[in-house]
Amino acid sequence: MDYLVLFPTVFVEQGNTKVLLYNVDSKKTLLISNELVVRDLKARKDNYLNVFHLSSDIFRVSEAKNVIQTIENECFGWIGSGAVPPIQPAPFLQINASKHSPTIVHQKEYDYFSLYELSICIKGELSSTFGTVLTSCSQKELNFNDFEYFFKNAYLMTNLKCINIYGDDFKRYVGLADFIRIIVNQSLKCNLIIHCRATDIPILCEKNIDIVNYCKFHATIDGNSSVDFISELFQTYPISTFVFPIRTREDVASYCRLLQVINIPIRPCPIVMKRNKSFIKEQLIIDDILHTKKTYKEILLNTRINLNYYGGMFISSSGDIYASLHEDSFGNIKNQNIEEATYDLQKNSKSWYLIRDNVSPCQDCVFRHLCPPISSYEFVFKTYNLCNIKNF
Ligand code: SF4
Repeated sequence: MDYLVLFPTVFVEQGNTKVLLYNVDSKKTLLISNELVVRDLKARKDNYLNVFHLSSDIFRVSEAKNVIQTIENECFGWIGSGAVPPIQPAPFLQINASKHSPTIVHQKEYDYFSLYELSICIKGELSSTFGTVLTSCSQKELNFNDFEYFFKNAYLMTNLKCINIYGDDFKRYVGLADFIRIIVNQSLKCNLIIHCRATDIPILCEKNIDIVNYCKFHATIDGNSSVDFISELFQTYPISTFVFPIRTREDVASYCRLLQVINIPIRPCPIVMKRNKSFIKEQLIIDDILHTKKTYKEILLNTRINLNYYGGMFISSSGDIYASLHEDSFGNIKNQNIEEATYDLQKNSKSWYLIRDNVSPCQDCVFRHLCPPISSYEFVFKTYNLCNIKNF
């Protein structure tokens, strides 16, 4: 009897006609489409083991034999023979074992994520762009008193890992600098992340706030920002990443030009709108997915939760609680106890648990656990394959 024994670090993802092997150690992928090999790999009897029985046909057909040899040569596993199959645990052992008691997994995940993330939206356009019901602070000054109840909650404050303030045109929010100062003065042991456009940063900083030790900026730049301006900002302020929104082909060209002349981290961020959906899809090619390096933990979590949303709690200026900007409100923080609200979100949030296994066509795709978690854009457009991958 012949066996293919894959190393315990190798995930096997099955599609209808293809099988993907992914080794979390070497970060190598191998996409297999040979019919005979796919058949044998899909006939695994025991999901807890990475051991596959090889039929004799495989060794009679040279293409199939070559594929098996490649698996061995590329260090995904080894070929063995004998009356008793060897025992080699599979990475999915952990997932399958916990299927009937998901709470055990969740308890573990608390260590991995910030359980509470306060996101304050001060960008009025969000509601119209994404069609959500979120109330924003756009019509009034940002007032710390609106959030006081939040900061006075001892249970919440000991768990708070991150405060997110996002929006643009920060100049309009005259209370923002004071708001940040109060947060900083409270000596909260959490990250304060301010998502803003590069042009807004001087406005925030001229208010004499010691943000250097507290804030992490994700500043947005565009094709019109000058290289000198960007470099100066990067050196002056504690900016960890510049985000470059990509909407059009011209944006791609500007982004590439910037990368050539500037040596600081710039992350492209696709902004999907109805009119450019097909353009964005064209840009995502299979290599992007195959080259993303996933850890063992990320792959496991991709089978359970949406890493983009899980653990996030959005509180609007009126106190309404959201698990994400795309779900209805879960209540209001002013009349709901924070522990109850969190429990409610953990039990009933759709976005925290929106994974590719549950949406079409991703559920049949071999890349579903390597692919980035479902994004806001996909959620909004209800189109879950913003990629050009077909027939997997
Ligand atoms: S987005 Fe969906 S269909 Fe496209 S590669 Fe990822 S899992 Fe597959």
